[in-house]
Amino acid sequence: MNSLFASQPTTVFETMSALARAHDAVNLGQGFPDDPGPLDVREKAAEAVLNGWNQYPPMMGAPELRRAVAAHYRDWQGLDLDPEAEVMITSGATEAIAGALLALIEPGDEVVLFQPLYDAYLPLVLRAGGVPRLVRLVPPHWSLTEEALAQAFSPRTRLVLFNNPHNPTGRVFGREELERLARFCTRSDAVLVSDEVWEHVIFDGREHLSVLALPGMRERAVKIGSAGKIFGMTGWKVGFVCAAPALMRALSKAHQFLTFTTPPALQHAVAYGLAKERGWFLSTRAGLQRSRDRLAAGLASIGFNVLPSAGTYFLNVDLAPLHPAPRGGDPRDEAFCRTLVERFGVAAIPVSAFYAEEAVDTVIRFCFAKADSTLDRAVERLEAVS
Ligand code: GLN
Repeated sequence: MNSLFASQPTTVFETMSALARAHDAVNLGQGFPDDPGPLDVREKAAEAVLNGWNQYPPMMGAPELRRAVAAHYRDWQGLDLDPEAEVMITSGATEAIAGALLALIEPGDEVVLFQPLYDAYLPLVLRAGGVPRLVRLVPPHWSLTEEALAQAFSPRTRLVLFNNPHNPTGRVFGREELERLARFCTRSDAVLVSDEVWEHVIFDGREHLSVLALPGMRERAVKIGSAGKIFGMTGWKVGFVCAAPALMRALSKAHQFLTFTTPPALQHAVAYGLAKERGWFLSTRAGLQRSRDRLAAGLASIGFNVLPSAGTYFLNVDLAPLHPAPRGGDPRDEAFCRTLVERFGVAAIPVSAFYAEEAVDTVIRFCFAKADSTLDRAVERLEAVS
């Protein structure tokens, strides 16, 4: 079997988590919190299972959850969404992304992507027949420049797959960069699919700006969100898709044929969770910001060059000053991460895994969504490296 998917490697997240288990390492690789998630939301899910919410819910999602998503985005992001026509529930954001590609492009259409890119994006674009055009974001600022966009967009651009806040860089793109991107989308008459799963995980008083709130984008943007990220329960795989009715008609067909529905008990619990008071979301955010600061300070104190992180569960370190010489044939960050997990007992993710070409290979990503004791243990172990 040599299909496009058969030739793909196992994802770096899966590989690193397996290595972390094998070496009894502190796992700061794959992005998931070590906290079990809010008890009241978990209780709602358990009650719903026991109360019989176990058959197929409506294909577009439980009506109460669709209403809760619209209300949540009205309160938090000023969006005016019709829950009946403009909100759909999927089995995770990854389904939503795959569905958007299957529903909105035809083989040969050009798709603009941003590098470093989340590992699922490129294989899904290729499988859907898209012709990828990559915009390169460059450390340490990872900015969305006019020049980089101009090189990737063309009159054949049909879709743009964007991610903000951005994994793995921790960049949060602001209004100026987003409006620049929107102008390119409008000029090419392209749909902007925006993976905003980290929308609540932003720091230092920032507010999330959705592409749906940008002038002129209401009819040509698809916003994708994730309950797994909002509530720190990444295995739940409950995603939200918001788009104008004309786009939603196509997107709903992809969902209909991919997963059709999403576990109803989880939808019920997420509807409850999204209506939680503002303070809960803000204190969750503040807790993650403290964890970011704790890990950043710990890593800096032992000589790592820590790059800024404005959002997501991740912060990156640039190894270049620490390990200037490439080792063997492996990208430097990959070899370094292997040594870290095998010899020092800490798992991290090499950022070169997020590149399709000309990888930046001196940056590694740590997940800080962990208990203080876990972060401290990692820093203690890393002290031996630097
Ligand atoms: N989103 C997670 C991360 O970036 C990984 C999800 C997965 O393991 N596929 O770490």
